[in-house]
Amino acid sequence: MKIKAAVVDKKGADFEIRDDVELAPMGPDDLQVHMVASGICHSDEALRIGDAVIGYPIVLGHEGSGIVEKVGPEVTQFKPGDHVVMSFYACGNCKNCLRGIPTQCLNYAHNNLSGTRPDGSAHFTENGKPVADMFDQSSFTTTTVVRERNAVKVDKDLDLRKLGPLGCGYVTGSGTVLNTLKPKPGDTIAVTGTGAVGLAAMMAGKISGCTKVIAIDIVDSRLALAKELGATDIINSKNEDPVEAVKKLTGGLGVDWAVDTTGVKAIMEDTIQMLAQGGTTATIAVTPASY
Ligand SMILES: [Zn+2]
Ligand SMILES: [Zn+2]
Repeated sequence: MKIKAAVVDKKGADFEIRDDVELAPMGPDDLQVHMVASGICHSDEALRIGDAVIGYPIVLGHEGSGIVEKVGPEVTQFKPGDHVVMSFYACGNCKNCLRGIPTQCLNYAHNNLSGTRPDGSAHFTENGKPVADMFDQSSFTTTTVVRERNAVKVDKDLDLRKLGPLGCGYVTGSGTVLNTLKPKPGDTIAVTGTGAVGLAAMMAGKISGCTKVIAIDIVDSRLALAKELGATDIINSKNEDPVEAVKKLTGGLGVDWAVDTTGVKAIMEDTIQMLAQGGTTATIAVTPASY
């Protein structure tokens, strides 16, 4: 079927909205989803400008939310009309999936970043030529097909327009803190960058019982939101040295945990400098290709 999609033709090109993109037919374990909204993640921008590469032309987007229109014959968990948020695909069968860490799926790259459906066929074509996909999802579309395992059913009372970033940004930030860093009550945490990933990391620190949750950014309005969402302290690193400010806020000790969501080298280095003895920093952004 023909759909409308935002296509990036080559490295650095702008998104171009086109209505002649052909969507591949559904597979047996696929859902056909009418897209309601999509988050925009920094990884989309990294792929557009070439800091990360799948291939071109490409339809990006991997934080889609929508309504199931059709289901394949092997689908067991969804029916038409279900509201869903789409995320990445984890195979469920490899060593890491079976160990309960699907984010480390050994087949992750093949299933999410190969630009094609898992069998190597094109997810999208235009004038007969293949157009790459992302996360086997490509949410910058009006309709897509995703495998059942890419989707999570959500309550119909929730506003689908706000849920897309749960598929990547929120799980990346919160998962880093809750599943990997695992701070204890009374610990301290600093987060650099307060977009969706940073705010989620910060909120995860808060619910883990961290007594200092320090948000660092260069945009005052974002810092105000961070405060509203539970930051105990905010630092605008345009106005003050973030390492010195963190040390001052922690009685000279530094923080037990730091999370960088910017991917900027100098800021990643800052998150190491602001650590207390024995502290740990997690860097979770796509970095520029030049690093
Ligand atoms: Zn993302
Ligand atoms: Zn796996």
